[in-house]
Amino acid sequence: NPKLAKYHPIDDATWKRNERVPYSALASTLEAIEEVSARLKMIEILSNYFRSVIVLTPEDLLPSVYLCLNKIAPAYEGIELGVAETSLMKAVAQSTGRTVSQIKSDAQESGDLGIVAEQSKSNQRMIFKPARLSVKGVFTKLKEIAQMTGHASQTKKVEKIQSMFVACQGPEARFLIRSLQGKLRIGLAEQSALQALALACTMTPPNQEYPPKELNASKGHSAESFKARADEMALILKTAYCECPNYDKIVPVLLEEGIEKLPEKCKLTPGIPLKPMLAHPTKGVQEVIQRFEGMTFTCEWKYDGERAQIHINQNDVSIFSRNQENNTSKYPDIISRLEKCKTDLVESCILDCEAVAWDREKRQILPFQILSTRKRKDANEADIKVQVCVFMFDLLYLNGEPLVTKPFKERRELLRQHFKEHEGEWCFATYLDTTKMEEVQEFLEESVKGNCEGLMVKTLERDATYEIAKRSRNWLKLKKDYLEGVGDTLDLVVIGGYIGKGKRTGTYGGFLLACYDKDCEEYQSICKIGTGFSDEDLQQHTEFLKEHVVSQPKSYYQYDSSLEPDHWFEPVQVWEIKCADLSLSPVHRAASGIVDPVKGISLRFPRFIRIRDDKNVEDATSAQQVSYLYNNQEQVKNQQTDGKKFE
Ligand code: ATP
Repeated sequence: NPKLAKYHPIDDATWKRNERVPYSALASTLEAIEEVSARLKMIEILSNYFRSVIVLTPEDLLPSVYLCLNKIAPAYEGIELGVAETSLMKAVAQSTGRTVSQIKSDAQESGDLGIVAEQSKSNQRMIFKPARLSVKGVFTKLKEIAQMTGHASQTKKVEKIQSMFVACQGPEARFLIRSLQGKLRIGLAEQSALQALALACTMTPPNQEYPPKELNASKGHSAESFKARADEMALILKTAYCECPNYDKIVPVLLEEGIEKLPEKCKLTPGIPLKPMLAHPTKGVQEVIQRFEGMTFTCEWKYDGERAQIHINQNDVSIFSRNQENNTSKYPDIISRLEKCKTDLVESCILDCEAVAWDREKRQILPFQILSTRKRKDANEADIKVQVCVFMFDLLYLNGEPLVTKPFKERRELLRQHFKEHEGEWCFATYLDTTKMEEVQEFLEESVKGNCEGLMVKTLERDATYEIAKRSRNWLKLKKDYLEGVGDTLDLVVIGGYIGKGKRTGTYGGFLLACYDKDCEEYQSICKIGTGFSDEDLQQHTEFLKEHVVSQPKSYYQYDSSLEPDHWFEPVQVWEIKCADLSLSPVHRAASGIVDPVKGISLRFPRFIRIRDDKNVEDATSAQQVSYLYNNQEQVKNQQTDGKKFE
């Protein structure tokens, strides 16, 4: 499409300066993105749309960003779309004169209610034309719908949906319905949207005349020439988003002051969750010692619970999960005991901790499975049966000052100076500073006896900052399982199901799993799995996954046709999987092109461990991590050195 490269944000837009952005402009952009699978093309299409918005109607940039990501508020505010399928069908039926059962059977056949809505609408004649939808109007209504609660809310939601749906034309109907379902299905990752936003702000700097003199942009200028600068801007934008994942704060700064001002304006703030630092797997004590040779480091017990980022600002307290979800109402018990751990020196802070199930009588840590039985929201302190102890391991912000750029040694000292322990409720993570291999080994064994998963080994002085949102090599995890197996469990996305036979009739009997390739933004098959499931597990997975069946595999699924499952699923759930080892595979596609030009990698003897509700599908084990786990296996390493010997 020659228009892509030569896009002109004013001449090629379908609306005029200071007019509200029509929803149709966004819907055609989403449609164009859905039609391509190359990530760079998606970015270019989206950035062209953003450019027009910036030049013509900048106040609609914020709702545009939210709608293309299918969000309506920052994740931690917990306002989510996702209207019940039956209500949506009702709204479509009532506004198109069709019956709910017709809509239902069409949707079952095509696997996409959005497409069914669009087709039903196109067959309908309108006597009078309703006013066209605007991006701002749709966004506002979606937010109102998400916030409706109470008895009559379903009926009110249907009415509001209908009021928008009657005005839809062409692809608007498809994307409106998909937004309401909570799944846009265009394969656009948030990182790409951020890249597109940075590219748009580079090519058409907000608050400036277009074309900007400085960049000498003129009609027909291609995105290419701005690439280097846009990449630089994208990095700033992505960093700001890690520290402050809130577009309500970021977009106004972009528009009024420019991306360069983001580091100053959108930084760590108590009350806004940040993306946590993560660890690299290692296979044994020896590897740890080798990696950290000549550096000071510490070993901490790795507690098996749930990450809890505790934010305090005077009397406001919030607790966030690993995924920036707001868990405050899950833990009223932690909040009411806060005074026991805080000294008078603390006014504001962000603590990084693990909340772990705790047996008060035996005074010991309980397994993760027990913790997962706790109520997830609006828990009443009096009804809580599973007690938790919070293990504090890091301090990221203290009394108005971010600490993330300070070395861990200093952060740990500040943590211990400003907070205190209280048995069974608040503890500092147990640690040992040593460089002796035997001592690390012994400490690892102790941690396992103490019901922990193993150790986290962290640098103390050099290269010891808190790396937000990063799986860093300065944090190494050493799990007890590594000692027998591959080095780590993998977190994989379920993309297909095989219908069960014999004892498993009526449920799925096996599944197709995939890792996520961050660079290509695709899911690559890595194994079939049928082991590790109890009958209840299979029942539960079948119930859940049958709601997410799609008629076609996604364009961003990579698999071999010999693996074709009976049903394909939306990428919606992450499972933790253990395996004996990883091997090169002629059929699976995981990490292909990284380790071997053609072959992918597959897991041998995979076993299901648990659902990872705290991970988004984009947080699944990446192709890069798979290749790392593969290469790090003893037999592969030996082969590689043997190969070198004979070269
Ligand atoms: P997994 O939980 O499968 O190990 P992950 O990707 O969620 O993977 P990792 O980076 O592997 O996270 O491990 C870090 C996790 O371990 C943290 O998210 C935290 O919840 C938990 N944890 C327990 N004890 C500690 C500790 N002492 N320091 C840091 N993290 C800890």
